[in-house]
Amino acid sequence: MTVGKRQIRFEDFIMKEGTCWVWKGSYSQKGEPIYISRNKAKNARLHCFEKHVCEIRGVKLEPKCKDPRCIKPEHQKVVKSTDNKTGSLPP
Ligand SMILES: [Zn+2]
Repeated sequence: MTVGKRQIRFEDFIMKEGTCWVWKGSYSQKGEPIYISRNKAKNARLHCFEKHVCEIRGVKLEPKCKDPRCIKPEHQKVVKSTDNKTGSLPP
C-alpha cells in the first residue's frame, strides 16, 4: 500500500510569513512543530536547523521571535535540554 505518488517535501510545510517561517505541518501536544518522515516524528525546528545550519544534538530550540510556529533557523535560540529547571527567562 503506497501513501501516494506525490512526495511531500519538508519545504512544502513552510509558509513564509513576514520574516518568519511558519510551520504548516503537525504539532505535538506541547505545541512543538513535528515533521513526519518515514513514519518517524521529528522536531521540525531541529530538522530545519540541521538542514540549513549544522547537525545538533542534545539541545532544544526556542523561537526568539516568540512565534511558536516559527522554525526559521535564524530565529531559533539554542537551549540545552539537559537543564530541567523551569527557571525564569531572561528579558
Ligand atoms: Zn520567526
